[in-house]
Amino acid sequence: MTRTPDADVAVVGLGAWGASALWQLASRGVRVLGFERYGLGHPFGASHGGTRMFRVTCLEHPGLVPLAQRSRQLWQQLETLTGRALFDQVGAVLMGPADGHIAGGSLRAAREHDLPVETLTAGELSRWLPQHAAFQDGDIGVREPEAGLIRPEAAVRAAVGAAAAAAARVLTDTRVTAIEPAGDGVVVRTPARDFRVGQVVVTAGPWLDTLVPGLPLETVRVPQTWFRPAGDPAPFTLDRLPPFMRELGGRGAIWGHGSHDGPDVKLGLEDGGSAFRVTPADDCDRGVTPEDWTAVSGLLAEAVPGMGAVPSRTEVGMFSRTPDKQFLIGRPHGDPRLVVAGGCNFHGFKHSTGIGEALADIVLGRPTGCPLDFADPNRFL
Ligand SMILES: Cc1cc2nc3c(=O)[nH]c(=O)nc-3n(C[C@H](O)[C@H](O)[C@H](O)COP(=O)(O)OP(=O)(O)OC[C@H]3O[C@@H](n4cnc5c(N)ncnc54)[C@H](O)[C@@H]3O)c2cc1C
Repeated sequence: MTRTPDADVAVVGLGAWGASALWQLASRGVRVLGFERYGLGHPFGASHGGTRMFRVTCLEHPGLVPLAQRSRQLWQQLETLTGRALFDQVGAVLMGPADGHIAGGSLRAAREHDLPVETLTAGELSRWLPQHAAFQDGDIGVREPEAGLIRPEAAVRAAVGAAAAAAARVLTDTRVTAIEPAGDGVVVRTPARDFRVGQVVVTAGPWLDTLVPGLPLETVRVPQTWFRPAGDPAPFTLDRLPPFMRELGGRGAIWGHGSHDGPDVKLGLEDGGSAFRVTPADDCDRGVTPEDWTAVSGLLAEAVPGMGAVPSRTEVGMFSRTPDKQFLIGRPHGDPRLVVAGGCNFHGFKHSTGIGEALADIVLGRPTGCPLDFADPNRFL
């Protein structure tokens, strides 16, 4: 790797993906410099809100199962390395029609990859999870005992901490204003000064296309909502209401989990309908209106009755979306100076550590441990 004045590699954007890339690069001895426009674990991008669901039975692409398996090993490694609790292995259950995309898709992924899951009938689900509204004949549940919840803000801080301990330099509250090719390297511009590096990894999440124009991405504003039980809160704690996704016939799908750090139960929609709004990332409206929660509130009676109709808390987040709903990870146009990772499509947190490892492999010119051809940005370019 060419030795350049400021660092061999810059990572721009230290959300979940960039923090993991920084950790993986630094731990391989690469001179790496990380830039983050806000503070670590901030609430303005995609990696905040207290919890993210982790499961291996990935429905979105068969190639994601090995990535999730590798990511889990790395989450555990990060916990051991930093001594921080990041991953709660409380299990998860995917429910709905046996031929639907959630329960059916999970079961297919589990069978194809020989994953340890348990299949439950509608009757068994009703007995185990009485907080859920009645299940329909033909509904099944796919219980994944090794799934759980990750704490996103703590995870970002832990990965950056591990990177700093391995000699990464970290600049927070530093906005990169431009990334420009310069000979066999790159100039990273910030308001205070320019930095010259050999390669740049751009993990700017919803802002990725502002730094690397021409990628087929759109940014989606998404509210995260928490509801408080209207009556007895005991059935709605995490140990009794584990993380779930539930498809409601043709009426959409709801996800959530019981309360753990307080009385609130996190509940949201897989596809937020009018609550999901495409927006330029810098213009994202962080004010909350009833439009942000009426769709999820309207489905609670047939999914998880017993909640107050109005959320006790709502936080706005964003994620970036590609036309085929798969990630963008790799070198656009094969440029040896530039690696991008984005297009998380609302399901990328669990894979952050595996993606960080893959980004380090790409930077170092090595094949990625988990094949990521399906995420190659050049499929669109
Ligand atoms: C509400 C919500 C719920 C989700 N639930 C799940 C779930 O349950 N399970 C799951 O696996 N996934 C889930 N996801 C997806 C997951 O959270 C994302 O895939 C993941 O957080 C993406 O991280 P990221 O690093 O790509 O983006 P971000 O976390 O947004 O990080 C990008 C970073 O780049 C920084 N940045 C941007 N521009 C610049 C610049 N010019 N200079 C310097 N820094 C810059 C930003 O400040 C930000 O910190 C969810 C997403 C959302 C929004």
